[in-house]
Amino acid sequence: MPECLFCRIVAKEIPSKTVYEDGEIYAFEDINPQAPVHVLLVPKKHLAHTLDVTEASAPLLGRLVLAANRIARERGVAESGFRLVVNTNREGGQVIFHLHLHLLAGRPMEWPPG
Ligand code: AMP
Ligand code: ZN
Repeated sequence: MPECLFCRIVAKEIPSKTVYEDGEIYAFEDINPQAPVHVLLVPKKHLAHTLDVTEASAPLLGRLVLAANRIARERGVAESGFRLVVNTNREGGQVIFHLHLHLLAGRPMEWPPG
């Protein structure tokens, strides 16, 4: 999927600020942060969105949450609180069609979201 921006970021063809990396997950700073902490976590394998998650890939979602927890603890926002966001398709606000978790923290989050 060479035309996918996040696949190219995972492949290091496009620069990003690495936050965390393992064999199947890459986390990096959002280029347009919406909070003092705004990290994106993606599976290295291309999945367009949550609708592409299968029984086989479902455990990967859990490991993305574990990685987000680790980053939240490292950034010192685990106890104060954070928000994980996954946008799916147009009305969900998805712009990049490579599945990603937004980890947002460092300010009070509002509800309902926009
Ligand atoms: P979404 O609307 O859920 O698809 O979110 C896409 C996110 O990707 C937005 O928060 C953008 O700021 C972020 N983004 C777009 N291009 C880049 C990039 N080159 N590096 C880091 N983050 C990016
Ligand atoms: Zn991709």
